[in-house]
Order: sequence, then structure tokens, then C-alpha cells
Amino acid sequence: DPLQPGKVGTRFDLEKETELRFEVEAGESAEHVELELLTGMAEVFGSELNRNKKYTFGAGAKIAVFTWQGCSVNLYGKPEVAYVSKDTPMLLYLNTHAALEQMRKQAERDNERGPRVMVVGPTDVGKSTVCRLLLSYAVRVGRRPTLVELDVGQSGVSVPGTVSALCIERPADVEEGFSVQAPLVYHFGSTSPGTNIKLYNKLTSCLAEVFSQRCEVNRKASVGGCIINTCGWVKGSGYQALVHCASAFEVDVVLVLDHERLYNELKRDLPHFVRVVLLPKSGGVVERSKECRREVRDEKIREYFYGFRGVSFYPFSFEVRFSDVRIYKIGAPSIPDSCLPLGMSQDDTQLKLVPVTPGRDLTYHVLSVSSAEDGDEGSRKGIVESPVCGFIVVTNVDTQAQVMKVLSPAPRPLPRHTLLIMDIRFMDTK
Ligand code: ATP
Repeated sequence: DPLQPGKVGTRFDLEKETELRFEVEAGESAEHVELELLTGMAEVFGSELNRNKKYTFGAGAKIAVFTWQGCSVNLYGKPEVAYVSKDTPMLLYLNTHAALEQMRKQAERDNERGPRVMVVGPTDVGKSTVCRLLLSYAVRVGRRPTLVELDVGQSGVSVPGTVSALCIERPADVEEGFSVQAPLVYHFGSTSPGTNIKLYNKLTSCLAEVFSQRCEVNRKASVGGCIINTCGWVKGSGYQALVHCASAFEVDVVLVLDHERLYNELKRDLPHFVRVVLLPKSGGVVERSKECRREVRDEKIREYFYGFRGVSFYPFSFEVRFSDVRIYKIGAPSIPDSCLPLGMSQDDTQLKLVPVTPGRDLTYHVLSVSSAEDGDEGSRKGIVESPVCGFIVVTNVDTQAQVMKVLSPAPRPLPRHTLLIMDIRFMDTK
């Protein structure tokens, strides 16, 4: 390497249609691993590599470098594992993309809408990766698809505890993923849809409605269609939530990753015109422990406030008077049907705004700043169904002085005064 004499890489020569998989050690002391394409062509999850450029991957990264034509690459540093696999489902994924592209062409011709695709499967089957791949391929052929992120545990778009939609305008960055500009984000409040399934389904419907409205006025968005990433919870209410999502978005295609029973159930329960396709998972997808998932979530919140890699943000810390804000939790604890006041249903309790009296236990909680206008208070619909304009974290509460200290991406004052509390906590250890 002419630029860094002395730094010797490990060279891998890949035959066509094979991939190099490597993992970077987890933990703060982990050494980065660099990847360089020397000859030929290769891509990482659908984004092409430039030759002789070094890509850096940090702690915990799990990467596959795939080549259609054959290539050679160098790895610098000490990956935890690195091996070449000939056994990948990439050809099937590419065919899936080709089929979706056919549907977009037809939509263009017939003045109809493009494919709406839902990607489902249990945890750790590579759902997010398949979404990224299909979106990058679509945008590489000039489409403008929308990513709908319904995975409240591991959101690729915003902080955990949210659902969101993002228009994809360029392929994912090899190191950083999709550029997140102006996503549409809704507050859910916890990392599992099960904590409030009514709210989860409600927000899915909100996203579907906004997406459909956009499709009506934006032809490219309509033809591009959407790719919906879902949670790994595929039983009971989790399954019902998938069926709800399919109907809210009027999906045309469901890609089921590695779960035959789920495939059969969806084929049985969805209308016959929905194409349900079973796809294998990649052997490269690595299982992640609970601990690892928690770390990833924490990192996502840290990134929101402090930035990522090249881009550093400098968050603000200031005091907010209790009297200047209104804090709510969405959803009252459910009570037996027989105890509900006359004319009220469980739906009402799960979507109810419950005022939160600020106290010590607020410390470390993430709060969403609702975009609802301050006058919308009385209206439940206004707040529950309003997107979020940002997040703050409570770092300290002084009940005597009736103020709380918050970490915020923007200086004071808060743009709005309605705050929604999450179950999720973040300790700022920087
Ligand atoms: P979850 O249910 O938690 O959202 P998921 O099903 O969406 O998980 P992904 O996030 O797509 O799974 O993948 C899990 C991990 O495996 C990611 O770190 C991803 O980078 C890695 N991965 C995916 N495909 C490959 C591959 N072919 N080779 C190596 N690593 C891979």
C-alpha cells in the first residue's frame, strides 16, 4: 500500500458469486477493520465499492462483500472472523429485485402504483439487510422507493421506540447506511410492539395514510413503491400486526425470510392477489444477543445526540420548567372489560394520553417532542397521530425547584411543549 507503508493487509481473491464475510470485534477497545477493493467489482449489501478506497468498519460490524464477477480485496486490521462463502442467497435476492422492477415498469406503463413490499421473518434472519439491498438496487436503477421502518426495537432510521418512513434517493453509504434526511417519525415509546399493540397498529395506519397521500401527488414515489421492515415478533398479536400492516399498506408482495409456517399462515390469511414469497436467509447473518441489541439501541441514541463517524454534533444541556411543558404517556394500563366505564373500549385506554407528573423517576428517560401544536392538547388524535420533531433526554430532575435538566440536539427553547415519555432510558456517559 503506497499510502501506508508497513501496513500489510490480508488479501482475499473472490470468485464470481461468492462473498467475503467478516466481523469486527465488539466493545469499546475494538480495533477498526479496513476494507479495500483491489481489482474487479464488489458490493456491500447492494452498494458498490470504489476501487482503492479504504472503508472503515467499527466495533461489532458484520459485513459481507459480495461479487457478481469476481474480485480481490484486502482487509487491514484484525477481524474477529473472516471467511469466504460460496453459498449465498444473493441470486435469489437479485431475482426478487428484478421481479419488483418489472412491477415498477408495468406501473409506469399503466399509470398505476409500484410494488408495496413487506419483509417479514423472525429475529436475526437478515430482514433489515434484505430491505437495504432491495432499496439500494431500486435506487441504482433510478427509482425512488420509500423505506418504512416498523421495527421498534432496532430502527434503521431513527431512535428505538419509533416507527418511521424515509424516501430513499441514493444507495446506502457502504459504511454508514442510508442518509437520513427528513424522515417522518412517530412516537411509539418502547422497544416491543407488544407493550401497546393498539398504538402500534394505529401508527402503522398513520404511516400508510401519509405514504398513500404522498403517492397521490408524487408519481416517482408512487412508482417506486415501498419496502416495509417489520419486527421479528411473528406470533399472536405480532402476527396480527403483520396482517394489519399488509392491509393498511395494501401490500402487493410479502417476502418471508426463513419461516415456513409464517409463510403458510400469511398465504392462508392474506387476500389471494398478494404474492407471498418464501426466501432463504443468508448463512452470514449473525445472531445477536439481548445484550448486543441493547448496545446497538444505546448507540443509536448516542448517535442522535453526538453524531456519527465524521460528523460530530454538539448537543445542548438546559433546564426546562415543569410548568412550561406537558408530559404524557400514551396508553393507560389495561383494565378488565367489565370494569370499563360504559361506552368505553380497550382501544380507548391503549390510545389514551395519560398526564405524567414530573418526578425523580423521569431521570434518564427519552422524551419525544411532539410536533402537535400547543392547542391540540385536548385532542387525543392530534397528539398520538402527530409526527415527532425530535428527542430529548432527562438528565436530572429537581422537584424542589420544579425544573428538569435535559439533553437536546438544539438550543433552548423547545420548539413545542408537548412531550411523550418512552420506556427507553439513556445514560449519557460521555
Ligand atoms: P432484527 O430482527 O434484529 O431486526 P434482522 O433480521 O433485520 O434482525 P439484520 O439486521 O439484517 O437482521 O442482520 C443481522 C446482522 O447480520 C447485521 O449486523 C448484518 O450486517 C449482518 N449480516 C447480514 N447479512 C450478512 C451476510 N451475508 N454476511 C455477514 N453478515 C451479514
